[in-house]
Amino acid sequence: MQVDEPAAPLSASGKAPINPLPIPSSKRAPPPTSAAPVSFRAPSAPRKRRQGKHTSHGASRRAIILTPPADSPVTAASFTSEVFNNLNRLLKSDVKSDVILTHASVEGNGICIAASRVPSPSEIAFVLKHVRRIFPSPNVPIGHSPITSTSYLKIVDIPHVPASSKEWALKQHEAFTSALNKSPVGASLAKLIKHKPRFMRASPHSDSCWAWVDIHDTVLGSNARTYISKFVSIGGTNCQIKGARPHSGSVHCARCQRWGHHSDQCRAKCARCSLCSGPHTEANHLKCVDVLSVDVRQCANCTAAKRPADKRSHSSTDTKVCPFWKNRFDRAWLKRQFPARST
Ligand SMILES: [Zn+2]
Ligand SMILES: [Zn+2]
Ligand SMILES: [Zn+2]
Repeated sequence: MQVDEPAAPLSASGKAPINPLPIPSSKRAPPPTSAAPVSFRAPSAPRKRRQGKHTSHGASRRAIILTPPADSPVTAASFTSEVFNNLNRLLKSDVKSDVILTHASVEGNGICIAASRVPSPSEIAFVLKHVRRIFPSPNVPIGHSPITSTSYLKIVDIPHVPASSKEWALKQHEAFTSALNKSPVGASLAKLIKHKPRFMRASPHSDSCWAWVDIHDTVLGSNARTYISKFVSIGGTNCQIKGARPHSGSVHCARCQRWGHHSDQCRAKCARCSLCSGPHTEANHLKCVDVLSVDVRQCANCTAAKRPADKRSHSSTDTKVCPFWKNRFDRAWLKRQFPARST
């Protein structure tokens, strides 16, 4: 299978500009269509900027990252729809904000609260104040981590771990993690990894696979520059680290249910229900559909892919039934599902 990622061009003469630039004000966040890449103009650098290709910038993120202290019982699951309704109501009534907080997910050691648009610093402060009120903690209060950037890397030529298709992703991940921690480059990279890497076999019968690794980075993407074109030893093979396009693997969007982007990068006009694919969140499913249809399931992806009607009747988060989950590391398969929209 071909994956047409250009090799990372950054190593040529790529030096970080001397003056770090301020993060663009999130109040003037660009519209989604122009969200990435953010343009940077270093006054002393007439040459074209090359950075940005593997890095997506914090100012375009529609999210608030909360960091509960280590001993805190607060998790992403603590953010129930009741908590969200409460916060959204306060945002609207107290600060006349139209931002809507939609869902919570785990991100690194923090909790990522996805929002309908990029929240302003004052909106973030307001949410944080109320989160601390709702979840009081005796010692250290819940913190907030200013979002910087995410850089997207891939590591190629990783020896494929033989395992049943069910167990493969897990086994491959275990082998990858233990190998990373054995080398100095790998161990320092491992500390920056944002979420579980995604693995994809280079081709269906290949003996090697690729790992897609998203890392925390500075606004200028300097972490990515440190690692791109370096090698890590995995299973006795020297595997090269390359830059990747943002979201080049297959990610499931928890907001619109489609594949290929993370929910905080979602550009859909409204949330889609994972249960019935209606224009509402799963939390509001009971309120939005009539009593007789409550148990009707319709997968947004299988419907969009025009699969036969009897093959659509599952929720889009049903990892056991929906073929999109089974094929989530198979880009060619995913691409074939939407021939009309092929990119
Ligand atoms: Zn989406
Ligand atoms: Zn629904
Ligand atoms: Zn499906």
